[in-house]
Amino acid sequence: MARNIGLNVPLPKEECEDVHCPFHGTLPVRGQVITGKVVSDKMTGTVVVKRDYLHYIRKYKRYQKRSSTLHAHNPPCINAHTGDTVRIAECRPLSKTKTFVVVEVQES
Ligand SMILES: [Zn+2]
Repeated sequence: MARNIGLNVPLPKEECEDVHCPFHGTLPVRGQVITGKVVSDKMTGTVVVKRDYLHYIRKYKRYQKRSSTLHAHNPPCINAHTGDTVRIAECRPLSKTKTFVVVEVQES
């Protein structure tokens, strides 16, 4: 049975055995929820998510496009791939660079 993670996201269709899965494991999520695009799924259990944002430049009164990448845990039941638009939720640090977990793959 999948747990309710406190976010308005659909439950994954598959079940998994991952302890770091917010739905089937014991990982609590709290904090920020970010939408981004998967740019790499080469690591086992991790995806790289790119986030685009606008930064205001006062001198020119215009916005500059900036982007950053985040590492996020990819549970087997979610299984996000490169090119997917995903929602990631903040959690406790899972490794040196991972503090987010994928909670939803958005259909486009
Ligand atoms: Zn799972």
